[in-house]
Amino acid sequence: MEGEQVIIIGAGPAGLAAAIQLKRYGIHPLVFERAEVGGLLLNANLVENYPGFPSGIPGPELVELFVKQAHNLGIAVTFEQVSALDYDGELFRASTDQKSYSARMAVIATGTQPVAFTDLVISDELKSKVFYEVYPLLGVQGKSVAIVGSGDAAFDYGLNLSRKNRVVILNRGDSPKCLPLLWERARNVAAITYREQTTLCQLGACPGNRIRLNCQSPEGVLQLDADYVVGAIGRQPRLACLTDALNQSVKELEDQGILHMIGDVKNGLYRQTSIAVGDGVRAAMKIYNRLKEQR
Ligand SMILES: Cc1cc2nc3c(=O)[nH]c(=O)nc-3n(C[C@H](O)[C@H](O)[C@H](O)COP(=O)(O)OP(=O)(O)OC[C@H]3O[C@@H](n4cnc5c(N)ncnc54)[C@H](O)[C@@H]3O)c2cc1C
Repeated sequence: MEGEQVIIIGAGPAGLAAAIQLKRYGIHPLVFERAEVGGLLLNANLVENYPGFPSGIPGPELVELFVKQAHNLGIAVTFEQVSALDYDGELFRASTDQKSYSARMAVIATGTQPVAFTDLVISDELKSKVFYEVYPLLGVQGKSVAIVGSGDAAFDYGLNLSRKNRVVILNRGDSPKCLPLLWERARNVAAITYREQTTLCQLGACPGNRIRLNCQSPEGVLQLDADYVVGAIGRQPRLACLTDALNQSVKELEDQGILHMIGDVKNGLYRQTSIAVGDGVRAAMKIYNRLKEQR
């Protein structure tokens, strides 16, 4: 397979696993990453369902191991955002701000993007205090953080940040939607306050360079001040880099075995590291077999 290269968009668990497996076949993975290697996994507080780590492992530590393995195999990541991926009938072309890259096969491992607070007006002044992932806040301490959401991510974020900060989790519904074990852990942490039937309606500035949350609650209007707000209200596939033409032929190209969607970007509810990694290995094996057939 000397000289053959494959475009991989995304250096999260799925993209890295595909790259590692391709390398074993002597196929060169051209891996692109717009942000940080490790993707969403960098936000995971404690991964307890990835085999091989009997006591669990924090997401960033698992990422470090993935990176080490990729590095040992000589896999280089190109830190460029792919703005467009297209196919001209023979080659896939990935365009970034810097240049354009081509290969006969491509793997889309772009994961998900957060659902943003589209119904709230967030002034420019406040934008730097509103996050949708906790990774950028992991160094913060002694602050107060309001987390909006009630699923696994909201509670995982809360447990993570509560080690060094005070956290309030705001759920507009009337019960948590997270795994029972996360709920059990969170309710035993003194630094976490959980509020039900509390809907965030407005964000404003407040003294001390903080952010004021106006919420509707069973007691009426509730005002909370925080240093940061984290939205954990859902995620959706990150597919903006596919051109319209490519979008329409995804199924056909997948059937031909030359385009592969792997990991969270296509796994719906089943967004887990082990599944993403399995997808990556399977895609690489399919690519190898396809190239063998062609020779
Ligand atoms: C709080 C939290 C806790 C979690 N806990 C667990 C757990 O305990 N166990 C578990 O198994 N899973 C857990 N997960 C889920 C796990 O993180 C994901 O399933 C996994 O990261 C998915 O891998 P992926 O490679 O498919 O996508 P991602 O990790 O999202 O990676 C996609 C990568 O693609 C990059 N990218 C996207 N578009 C482009 C582009 N156009 N150009 C270049 N790069 C691009 C992104 O920047 C990103 O780095 C957790 C997730 C969260 C948020």
